Amino acid sequence: MATPFCTDCQRNMEGGFVLDNNHTAQEAASWIEGMPEKSFWGGLKIKGRRKLTMYAWRCPSCSVVRLYAP
Ligand SMILES: [Zn+2]
Repeated sequence: MATPFCTDCQRNMEGGFVLDNNHTAQEAASWIEGMPEKSFWGGLKIKGRRKLTMYAWRCPSCSVVRLYAP
């Protein structure tokens, strides 16, 4: 994706991601379609929902972070 621009500071943002640190692996956090609903087995229902890798862009001036899921 193209580098986002902080419209407040007129600067390019720094690329990064949100770490999803689970028991078995370290992954980038995902965007999941719909609102969170608890599953019968514990945790959240994600079956059949769209799942997209989420990217976090940070402004080096004002530190705001924007999340994108292209
Ligand atoms: Zn900024």
